[in-house]
Amino acid sequence: MQWENLTSLDFEKYVKQCGGVGIIPVGALEAHCSHLPLGTDTFNAHATVCAAAEREAAIVFPAYPSGIDVDTAHLPGGMALQLDLVFALLENICDEMARNGLKKIILYTGHGGNRYYLPQFVQMLPAKRKPYVVYYADVNLFPNADEVLDADEYGHAGEAETSIMLHLAPELVKMEQMPSKPFTNLKRNAKLAEVGAYSQVDWYAQYPHMYVGDASKSTAEKGKLIFDYAVEALVKLIRAVKEDHITPALVREFNERIDQPSSPDFWTS
Ligand SMILES: [Zn+2]
Repeated sequence: MQWENLTSLDFEKYVKQCGGVGIIPVGALEAHCSHLPLGTDTFNAHATVCAAAEREAAIVFPAYPSGIDVDTAHLPGGMALQLDLVFALLENICDEMARNGLKKIILYTGHGGNRYYLPQFVQMLPAKRKPYVVYYADVNLFPNADEVLDADEYGHAGEAETSIMLHLAPELVKMEQMPSKPFTNLKRNAKLAEVGAYSQVDWYAQYPHMYVGDASKSTAEKGKLIFDYAVEALVKLIRAVKEDHITPALVREFNERIDQPSSPDFWTS
């Protein structure tokens, strides 16, 4: 159920019905080559989460474009928000969700650039002693793409993402504006990547055009196959979170123990 569609009266009832589970679809506003809309990741994340929540009840926070996105600041239309603000805003929203009864919060991203940010956000929570649990959905955005797609190299604005957008919102896809040739990984960081060195221009070194592979063979049918598979995975995750009674108890225990650190009994008995 979409948060913004509920009345205040219905909200309270629905929180109970869905076991206090809320989901934030985290995206970005960023260039997706020359043929996909800037809100592609936000759009995809929101659609995936809404479809999953129809099958396994949860309250879906409105489409949220405020992720980490500095990688595309060299291209028009991106929104590179201040990092401290991005973390603070998400924390504020989680606090407010919990205050409204959603004590289990799932973060689902449609934007690859959030892959370090969201786990780091979760990692910082113990120090803040939050009375709620946040689960990062560490799932593949294009889980069955290898079986569905023609291209070996896909990803940002490539065959997978273009197909999904053709399925979800074909009116926003401008196939005629697609580059006439595929763009492959430039591998300008290859020597560093070989030895495990990661720099702040890691992505720019590989895909400065924000285009991965060849999207010319994209179809709505392929997009539907990938989208449905991703929804299925998220349904399982929501169900597991709903049934999870261990983590909330552990969070409570941990929050109490960090006030007075003590040796565990099994060390001494
Ligand atoms: Zn994207």
